[in-house]
Amino acid sequence: EGVKRASFRGGGAAPIQPSELNAIISHQPQPPPPANEDGDGRLDSSLLANKTIAIKDNIVTKDLLTTAASKVLSGYSSPFDATVVTLLRNHGAYISAKTNLDEFGMGSHSQHSGAGPVLSPFTRNGEPLSAGGSSGGSAVAVATGLCWAALGTDTGGSVRLPAAYTGVVGFKPSYGLLSRWGLVQYANSLDTVGILARRVEDIGKVFTTLTVFDKNDPTSLPNSLRQRMPQYNPSEQNKKKNLRIGVPREYNTQELSSPVRSAYTRTLQALQRAGHTLRPVSLPSTRPALSAYYILAPAEASSNLAKYDGVRYGHRTPHPDASPKSNLPLYAQTRGEAFGEEVKRRILLGAFTLSSEAIDNYFLQAQRIRRLVQRDFDAVFARPNPLLDASGEAVGEKEEGRVDVILTPTAPTLPPTLKEVARLSSVQGYMNDVFTVPASLAGLPAVSVPVALEGSEKEGLGEGDVGSVGVQVLAQFGDDAGALGAAEVVE
Ligand code: GLN
Repeated sequence: EGVKRASFRGGGAAPIQPSELNAIISHQPQPPPPANEDGDGRLDSSLLANKTIAIKDNIVTKDLLTTAASKVLSGYSSPFDATVVTLLRNHGAYISAKTNLDEFGMGSHSQHSGAGPVLSPFTRNGEPLSAGGSSGGSAVAVATGLCWAALGTDTGGSVRLPAAYTGVVGFKPSYGLLSRWGLVQYANSLDTVGILARRVEDIGKVFTTLTVFDKNDPTSLPNSLRQRMPQYNPSEQNKKKNLRIGVPREYNTQELSSPVRSAYTRTLQALQRAGHTLRPVSLPSTRPALSAYYILAPAEASSNLAKYDGVRYGHRTPHPDASPKSNLPLYAQTRGEAFGEEVKRRILLGAFTLSSEAIDNYFLQAQRIRRLVQRDFDAVFARPNPLLDASGEAVGEKEEGRVDVILTPTAPTLPPTLKEVARLSSVQGYMNDVFTVPASLAGLPAVSVPVALEGSEKEGLGEGDVGSVGVQVLAQFGDDAGALGAAEVVE
């Protein structure tokens, strides 16, 4: 399909083969059938006919094991397909592989995996770069042409960050549009299924097949609400003339590295020259949003992960210490040996912030900040939030300063090298998510689009580097069509 395979190592070294990158945890034993074959119900007329799609390994599939990159789920075989997987298959897609991730989706560089770390195909001065996380395997699979598109999950940026770090497009839809039935939960109130591909248009095709009500997911948005949301239509959206683009003051932070700042500013200027309107906007709760996220997500995670006790399924310690002196029950030994360091850190954090002495100062405050983040966005978008306003009508033109979309960088820096990642403290690692978590807390649609670096922005970067930065488009809740349409304009 004329795919550019990103398989260079730089510095004259032999090219890295996609198989060396550890992006895949398990794959179909058979290669996909030829494109014009319509056996096993894969009709060529279907929207995704013969498209090869890889699935993050925290989304269940009947025919391939699902581990969420955790030892606790090693060997787990799901008796059913996740709804999103069923829909892909029904539309003719070929599910080729399950992709590597940070255990249960907890991380930003795909290094915390029970299946071993993911490598990016890109390098800086011979050093491998971070592929981003937690959907790093899905991003690498798309970037290296192992698949046409991939599903990931995005709780606080896990589709958008790896997309930005590997030069592909990553889309997190509005919360509740894509079914979570069959997703291994991390933090239910934030978890979404996301899509990675090389072009926005391809993301649109996958999104169109997946955005349906699912009675198995209690948070799936009902049809009455979906009918009031604009439909995605690529050609129509492209023609859309004057976009009102919000440029949030709070995203112009010190941490923004100069190539990212420069590419972002250049993108804004180009959009203005093309006839779009730039408007400064204020989202004052951006910074506390990061702290709120890192309280809420671990709190939900600690509660979700309580079920992995070594009794019902998955890993159970093979050496239970039954001596009378041992004070560790079977489940504690199992959990001790089956969870990775980062997952344990999140469980401890969550158990603490939910404890009776801490809940008022942490969990409840974080819930309040979450409301403020939502209000920040509602005060800025021209389109009302359909969850709050029954009319669904756009706020009148009188409402000065309102915008259709907001543009931000996806991440504050270019992808760090894995050596730099290894030197980061946990909290420094969490800083990476500062631009992606607000949309997660508010449930908004968000797309990361790669913008190629130019001129001095490429200084110090060799041939093997990713060569682009992610620019993030945010839109009002339910305006996924608007987010994708604007992403096509940026692309
Ligand atoms: N990096 C964030 C975290 O570790 C986001 C992960 C995600 O979106 N799954 O929580």
